[in-house]
Amino acid sequence: MTPEEFQLGNLEIVTFELGLAMTNSYLLGDPDTKSAIVIDPAWNGEQIAGAALDRGWQINAIWLTHAHFDHFGGVSGIEKSIDTPIPVALHPLDLPLWQTHGGAGFFGITEFDPGPEPTIDLETGMELTLGKTRFEVRHTPGHSLGHVIFVSEELGAVFCGDLIFSGSVGRTDLQGGDWNTLLQSIREEILVLPDETRLFTGHGPPTTVGKERRSNPFVTGEIL
Ligand SMILES: [Zn+2]
Ligand SMILES: [Zn+2]
Repeated sequence: MTPEEFQLGNLEIVTFELGLAMTNSYLLGDPDTKSAIVIDPAWNGEQIAGAALDRGWQINAIWLTHAHFDHFGGVSGIEKSIDTPIPVALHPLDLPLWQTHGGAGFFGITEFDPGPEPTIDLETGMELTLGKTRFEVRHTPGHSLGHVIFVSEELGAVFCGDLIFSGSVGRTDLQGGDWNTLLQSIREEILVLPDETRLFTGHGPPTTVGKERRSNPFVTGEIL
């Protein structure tokens, strides 16, 4: 599928839907500095790296919301396509999950190359930047122990992995998942944001905080 591209603040965002779980991968580029980062390279890392090269961007880091295989299966392909090593960022509580290939075997994937081990430890309050744009890391457990989201107040946007989706929420039946913890993370880190905040989710179409506040049955309490 052809990736979708749009402008957000002064960043260019290329969205890919990749792999067997149809996971959203986001390539964010800063046209001024030509630097770029990738959030959750799901699969086909060569394709993501190629899109960056086509635009003259240099990928400087890979940020993972969590360590399920369908969110980092593309890391090795990116690293192989680009000569310089690219640091991978992950919350340390998801490292054991990363070390077991994020459940790839459980989903029947026997050959899985995780790429280089994460070297940037994400934690709540940590600030990450791309060009002049700032993102804040928030720890949001519930779907996995070390799940995080990347919040950019100036962009009015959150890259929220598998915490919440348009009309749904992340599953809690996998290793480290916990339903009450998930709902608490959504309440404390998503519902506190302004209604117009855009949510770029790990699966499915983007949404907004206001839309989910009003109509997500898991948030309104219709489904508990
Ligand atoms: Zn997941
Ligand atoms: Zn996922």
